[in-house]
Amino acid sequence: MDGEKAYGSFAADIIPDYGENLAKITSEMTLEEIENLATWSVREATLIVDSSLTLDIFNRHTITYALHELGHADQAVRFPLQYRRNLRNIRDKEGKIIEHDRRPGESYARRYEDRARKEVLR
Ligand SMILES: [Zn+2]
Repeated sequence: MDGEKAYGSFAADIIPDYGENLAKITSEMTLEEIENLATWSVREATLIVDSSLTLDIFNRHTITYALHELGHADQAVRFPLQYRRNLRNIRDKEGKIIEHDRRPGESYARRYEDRARKEVLR
């Protein structure tokens, strides 16, 4: 944005459903233990590939960015809780936001991108 080239982004709203497990939550439990009691799912998600609204399907870079963002979407749908936990860990110990490629969710998205690219861009 801001006149700069947008490469894509993915954002998902992950929500818990505790159902009958709600009664099992106690004050001694850690956040992780509490989260593990819920069934997590994607309520809403937005995938932006190119801010110009024109997707150049002949541009391999554009396709690569699209596949990368689909990788994030794939993780959100298959592993909603892990996706959510990864988002919580995008800051280093000093509180600075970690650069994109070193964030926890990126290895999943990159593996997806690599696998898909091998199939699509032959
Ligand atoms: Zn990414």
